Amino acid sequence: MLIDLASDDRRAYRKVHRGEAWKALSIELRVTMNRCEVCRLQPSALRVLQAAHLVAEVELWALRLRERYLFDRRGLTCLCGDCHASYDFVICGVRDPARMTKLQVARARGRSRRFVAEFRQLELRRLRWAATMFREADGEPAAPLAASA
Ligand SMILES: [Zn+2]
Repeated sequence: MLIDLASDDRRAYRKVHRGEAWKALSIELRVTMNRCEVCRLQPSALRVLQAAHLVAEVELWALRLRERYLFDRRGLTCLCGDCHASYDFVICGVRDPARMTKLQVARARGRSRRFVAEFRQLELRRLRWAATMFREADGEPAAPLAASA
């Protein structure tokens, strides 16, 4: 995780809602991508897929970048629920193992090992995206977007 949140921050974060704009963006992204970027699952039901933040929402919040980047398509990918949970737990470190069952922890770790190359690719995108956000937030011109695909 990029930032360790104080408990006050966590309480404030929970009060934040994404609203209708998020719902529309999430559906558009899932319809367009139509499969999990990690395990390649192509489910018949759209609800199996989730729009996932490369830099997790709670991290954006802690970095004071949430307002600016929560709905930015460059920072999103499409994952199935299991890969999303694994990504948030193993790569971002934003899921607390104390609040997960042992089975959930084992599944998340197992999936990250099974799709190690795919998760590494996503982690690289996550780092690039974080660098882009910081550069933009610091007022420097953005790099060409070619590398974000
Ligand atoms: Zn998946």
